[in-house]
Amino acid sequence: MTTAIYPGSYDPITYGHLNITFRAASLFDKVILALAINSSKQCLFSLEERMELMKHGIAHYSKEKNISDSNIEIAQFDGLLANFVTKYEKPVIIRGLRAVTDFESEYQMALMNRYQNYQVDTVFLIASLRYSFLSSSIVKEIARHNGNYKKLVPPAVYDRLWEKFNNRTK
Ligand code: ADP
Repeated sequence: MTTAIYPGSYDPITYGHLNITFRAASLFDKVILALAINSSKQCLFSLEERMELMKHGIAHYSKEKNISDSNIEIAQFDGLLANFVTKYEKPVIIRGLRAVTDFESEYQMALMNRYQNYQVDTVFLIASLRYSFLSSSIVKEIARHNGNYKKLVPPAVYDRLWEKFNNRTK
């Protein structure tokens, strides 16, 4: 059984992440969305909020597209990804590639992960064209300025972003 581990900070999860997740789920036996606890990034959402939005996002995408999510799970990890993945049977790391600009850092990270653990390979999935301009950071920036991002994130993510930037419940 091959397990695809898809690491990230998911702050918050977007349709770009979900598109990669479900494509990976059709290629591998199991997909684990691995939420990085010790990310050096300053996050907008707490770990618990990000977990909750990831759960909601997976269930929503599955229902909307009528694709099973039975082989998709969420986990948290601390420390080195190369160590964390060894918990799983035949692990591979999944990453999404949007543009050439993603390539350089992803290339470095994939080689470093293999340097830490030579048994672990990284598989890159090319972003779907419709989400290739989408990132969590850009969504947060648009939300901060009350722009249009409704179709880029699941409904609960949209509501939570709206609440964060409007200081009230939707
Ligand atoms: P990180 O903190 O590691 O950058 P992110 O949550 O920002 O984590 O992203 C996790 C992974 O998802 C990365 O491989 C990133 O390239 C990929 N990704 C993010 N947005 C998209 C998108 N719109 N389409 C495809 N892949 C994406």
